[in-house]
This record gives sequence, structure tokens and C-alpha cells, in this order.
Amino acid sequence: SLSDKLQNVFKNLRGKGRLSEADVKASLKEVKMALLEADVSFKVVKQFIKSVEERAIGADVMNSLTPGQQVVKIVHEELISLMGSETTELKLKNPSDVTVLMMMGLQGAGKTTTAAKLAGKLKSKGRKVLLVACDVYRPAAIKQLQVNGEKQGVEVFTMGENQKPVNIAKGAYEYARKNNFNVVILDTAGRLHVDEDMMEELQQIKENLHVDQALLTVDAMTGQDAVNVATVFNDKIGIDGVILTKLDGDTRGGAALSVKAVTGKPILYIGMGEKLSDLEQFYPDRMASRILGMGDVLTLIEKAQETVDEEKAKAMTQKLKKAQFGFDDYLESMNQMKKMGGLSSVLAMMPGLGSQMKDIENAIDEKKMARTEAIILSMTPKERSNPEILNPSRKHRIARGAGVDIAEVNRLVKQFEQMRKMMKQMPGMMGMGGKRGKKG
Ligand code: GDP
Ligand code: MG
Repeated sequence: SLSDKLQNVFKNLRGKGRLSEADVKASLKEVKMALLEADVSFKVVKQFIKSVEERAIGADVMNSLTPGQQVVKIVHEELISLMGSETTELKLKNPSDVTVLMMMGLQGAGKTTTAAKLAGKLKSKGRKVLLVACDVYRPAAIKQLQVNGEKQGVEVFTMGENQKPVNIAKGAYEYARKNNFNVVILDTAGRLHVDEDMMEELQQIKENLHVDQALLTVDAMTGQDAVNVATVFNDKIGIDGVILTKLDGDTRGGAALSVKAVTGKPILYIGMGEKLSDLEQFYPDRMASRILGMGDVLTLIEKAQETVDEEKAKAMTQKLKKAQFGFDDYLESMNQMKKMGGLSSVLAMMPGLGSQMKDIENAIDEKKMARTEAIILSMTPKERSNPEILNPSRKHRIARGAGVDIAEVNRLVKQFEQMRKMMKQMPGMMGMGGKRGKKG
């Protein structure tokens, strides 16, 4: 699936401590292929990759703490923006007024099911909802709405199958006014393909009734076709929002990504199953995380950015360059890492650091930190900034002062050397790097 493919690309990216422009370009090429295979429209993909590339190939990202992570974050942000950034709520009039919602879409897209799902949702928000059977072409369609309406405890208005849909809609509106309903949901008839009769019918309803929201239902499993259908409906009838159904079965994910970009109209809800409770509000950020399959990792990246102290990091880099990194700095960087907490699991993904990360994680354990602190505080300032002078007799004195075994002092010294070496190898590690690319 799209999610699997993207996760693979990103796993490779994250595995690299340093990224070259070529690395980023190669990865983005794979992202592009994955999106095209997921049936995202070509124009959308091209623009998307361009935006990501412009942001990813910059000094901020390349020199950052974890360049691979930064690229993932940029992709995530651009996915969100592609889907419209913000959640769009269904617009309803004041409850003292009647809001008319018109469901439209091809046959089998999920109009009838979604109408009933939506009716239940609005009912639970205190609305008095009337479902209206405007699909007069199949007797089964009326029955289907009645069955679903009953399940939801929502009244269904019908005039049988010998009336024109526009007349049924008008009749329903009058009935709603008289009986204090404040939402009317018109379930219209679809066709197998976009066809003139269907458009004509919808047009008539729109001309004769004040339709507040024309809602297009499209089947996510049809990928780019869903987006093409949305474009035609938008041009011919005008749509206010899209409901993307059968997302539970969609393995490609293309429609969710292109609808807004191509039609300019937002996705309001997503259908996640056949049950009448399977209708969810659409959140661009959640969808992006779902597509990337990495909500947790993104949270960790954000956390790291929030906790790393830019100024201190710079000062330490300077010290490191001048080989002035001492035990005080060690203590401070340990505290820094403790603050970052879960970040170590992200850093652990970096090559060659797996085992060392475990040592460090061990070292920042609460109890051990207290002992480490005690040992370091038992050193003289001179010893702290010149670890080289630590001979056995000094170590004995320190151990006595801290109330620990000499073996523990030796272990700390060894860990300190290890960390110093690691930082020299990787100046971008542990908040000791240059820019962290706060804005991505
Ligand atoms: P209509 O012709 O547009 O009115 O479509 P229907 O509401 O009759 O739905 C067609 C089929 O799609 C039915 O079998 C529904 O149960 C199914 N369906 C609708 N929405 C969803 C969804 O979100 N997920 C799944 N898996 N099936 C859905
Ligand atoms: Mg139907």
C-alpha cells in the first residue's frame, strides 16, 4: 500500500546520519512513484514533489539534528496542506431554520448509507432530521432508506416512485417546516456514469429549492475516477463538500489526497465501513499521519525540537571543537537527553549507534543519574574540565567522596570517553549540531 511504500522510503532516509542532495532527490523520486501508483493525479504529484523538494534541499534540513526525520516531517506537512490543512465543518443554519442537504453521486457510491449515517450524527447533536427518498428509479432504494432511517430513529419522507424527485423534495421541505424539522437530507438517485438525466434532475432540485449544502459522495476505491467525478459535479451542479466513502477498503489512498487539490472543495466526512456508525469527521493531519503510518515518530520529532536548547547546543559545539568538553558538559548533555526522553528511540534508528544508545539510555536512568551527579560533584573543577588527569589515586578519592565503588567511577569515565568520541564523529547528535531547522 501507499503507506507501506512511503514507510520504506523513509526508513532508508532515517537510516542516514547525513543526507546529500542526491539522497533526498532519490527518495523523493520513490515518493513520487508511490503516489502515482496510489492513483494520485499526476499534476498534484508533480506540484507536491516540487514543494517538498524546495523545502527539503536546504541547509536547515541538511545540517539538522536528524535530516531524514526533517524530510519526513516536511512530507507530512505538505500532505496536510494538500488536503486543505484545516478540518471543514458541515455548515448548518440556526436550528430555528430548515437546512437542506442534498446528497449526490454515482450509483453505489454510498449516498443512501451516508445519508442515514449523517442523519444519526446530526440527530445526536440535537437536530431534528428528515430523510427524503428522492431516488424513484428503484423501489428497493426507498425501502433501503426506510430501513436505515428506522435504525437511526429518523423519520423518512416518501411519496412513492411515481413523483418527480423535485416535487418530492418540495413536498418534503413543506412537511419539514410544518413539523419543526430543522435538517432535511435529500437522498437522490445516482447513475452508473455521469449522465445528463441525473444532472438535469439535480439541477431542477437546486433551482426549485434552497439547497444549503450540496454534498457529493464518492467512492474512495475508485481512485482518480472519484476525483474526475467530483470535478464534473462541481462544474455542472456545484458542490459544497465531499464525503469520501469506503476508505476502509481503499488501499491506494489517492482520492483522499487529490480531491481538495483538484476541485478546491473540502472533504467533510469519510466513510469507514458499512455500519451506520462508520462515518468520521475528516482531519487532514490525521489522514496524513495515517498515510505515512507514523504518527508516533512525528510526535517525537516535534518533542526533540521543543526541548533542545539552541544556545547551549552552540556553546557545546564550540567546546567540542576546542576539545574542552568536560564532565560538567557531560552532565549537562545527559540532563538534556533526559529531558528529551523518548527521543533516544528515534536516535537509535541512526546507523552504528544502536548499542551506544542503549548505554546512554541506561545512563540517564533516574537512579544512575543521581550517582553520576554525585561522582562528578566529587571531582575538583580542574578534574572536571581535564579528565586526562584522572589517575587511580584521584579516582579513589572521588569514589570515597561520592560513596560509590571505584568500579563505578571507572565506568563513568569510560562512558564519558565514549560519548566524547561519539560526539566528535557526529557533531549533529544530541543537540550539539548546528541549525536544527526549527521551521523545517
Ligand atoms: P448509493 O447507490 O450511492 O445510494 O449507495 P449505497 O448507500 O446503497 O451504498 C452502496 C454499497 O456501499 C452498500 O453496500 C453500502 O453498504 C456500501 N458502503 C457505503 N459506504 C461505505 C463505507 O464507507 N465503507 C464500506 N465498506 N462500504 C460502504
Ligand atoms: Mg441510494
